[in-house]
Amino acid sequence: MSLSDIRARITAAETTAGRASGSVTLIAVSKEQPEERVLPVLQAGQRVFGENRVQDAARKWPEWSGQFGAIDLHLLGPLQTNKARQAMELFQSIHSLDRPKLARTLARLAQEIGHCPNLFVQVNTGAEPQKAGILPADADAFIAEASALDLPLVGVMCIPPVNEDPAPHFAHLADIGARNGLPKLSMGMSDDFEIAIAHGATHVRVGSAIFGARE
Ligand SMILES: *Cc1c(COP(=O)(O)O)cnc(C)c1O
Repeated sequence: MSLSDIRARITAAETTAGRASGSVTLIAVSKEQPEERVLPVLQAGQRVFGENRVQDAARKWPEWSGQFGAIDLHLLGPLQTNKARQAMELFQSIHSLDRPKLARTLARLAQEIGHCPNLFVQVNTGAEPQKAGILPADADAFIAEASALDLPLVGVMCIPPVNEDPAPHFAHLADIGARNGLPKLSMGMSDDFEIAIAHGATHVRVGSAIFGARE
């Protein structure tokens, strides 16, 4: 697999779904990948990347941004409130807003710093106890609460349970986004991004299919 293969598959999936070409943003998930795998993807022109951890992103991306120009960086992993300020300075989007305390911290810091990344509310569509994300039953109330804090909410995000058909989870997330007026849908990874696009994904998060298996 390679970047151009993945781009071609996204375009094909857009067409199959009757969606406009370019309506899906590819987030290249560079977490835990060595530099020699990331640089060729930057050289090929990819500028949208995803990382799981604030610390890792802080170590790698300032230098690459200096070298390659503006990078659109997305935080995909859980965010602790004590890392929130650093995350807001590093990332253009955060996909893991999932609890009131974090929403309040981001709102306070946004006032202080004067800007806030685009925010996706992470929904634990499988209601898995070990997984981050607001429970589906609590999603509407939480989204209303975060909106009232004037946070720039743009969409919703999910990670379906492994070994389950992801389609119902994508459909469920699309429904939660639609009924709450959040148009962006962050869903679909290496193994299921075409299914996610069929269900309306606007952001697919693809790692190993581009870069190879993580060590
Ligand atoms: C690691 C990760 C991805 C990418 O997973 P792949 O299977 O390598 O495509 C996408 N989203 C999140 C939240 C991740 O943690």
